[in-house]
Amino acid sequence: MKIIISHDVDHINVTEHIFKDLILEKMFLRSMLGKIMGRISWKTCFRRMSMLFYKRMNRIEEVMMYDHQNKIPSTFFFGMSNGLGMSYSRQTAAEYIVKVVNNGFDVGVHGIEYMSQDKICDEHDAFKEVTGMTLFGVRNHYVRFDDETFYKMNRAGYLFDSTWFNKENIELKNPYKIGDMWEFPLHIMDVYVCEEGGLEDGMEKTYKIIDEADAMGIKYLTILFHDYQFDDVFAPDLKCWYMKTIEYCKRNKYEFISYRDAIKELDVESKLL
Ligand SMILES: [Zn+2]
Repeated sequence: MKIIISHDVDHINVTEHIFKDLILEKMFLRSMLGKIMGRISWKTCFRRMSMLFYKRMNRIEEVMMYDHQNKIPSTFFFGMSNGLGMSYSRQTAAEYIVKVVNNGFDVGVHGIEYMSQDKICDEHDAFKEVTGMTLFGVRNHYVRFDDETFYKMNRAGYLFDSTWFNKENIELKNPYKIGDMWEFPLHIMDVYVCEEGGLEDGMEKTYKIIDEADAMGIKYLTILFHDYQFDDVFAPDLKCWYMKTIEYCKRNKYEFISYRDAIKELDVESKLL
């Protein structure tokens, strides 16, 4: 079994949220609740309550450094549209995309639209224009999809998608093709498997999924970590969850692979069949 790591870039700067969405307000409320329920420390609570004094919200540089040190060829998904608390501009995304590509990591679209064929094509084409790339992948924000979404993504020209996810139960499936597009089901998402204040339980669940996936013959296990949580004060449990998950994969000698290289392997394999 090989491991595919990816990062959804939901936030870039604090300012993009002011008067545009309720992300900061929700964060204030959640951090107060988290403190009252004993899930986060005072330090983390204050850090989140004082978000307005910080400019940067992403931790892309830090994640790239960590992934580089651990030889992880991860993929960063960037939004080309706004919605559901993702509010940065294409221009801001473009600046970070250059940095990520220059550091040798892959990039794809963090999609908003999942119903309208035209809007799905718009996001695809905007990314093509911003990056100059012709073939790339996508994962939808909040992993939203319906029965038609993947067919529409294929028609838009995506190389792969990694949105399919069972929100109710962990469900492990191997990659499959939809037209010319490869669908890589998402298996492990940080915030679904690990709650704040519940790191120990989160690790137990994560290790169990990894072991089960290997035992049942999953070829590529997909893991999503949101970069903005890679911070000792802002989200200590989730940062720790990511590092412990990576350490577990390394201890068990699993190889890390990018979506693109996995597709190369899958294409060779399907030609041999
Ligand atoms: Zn997202």
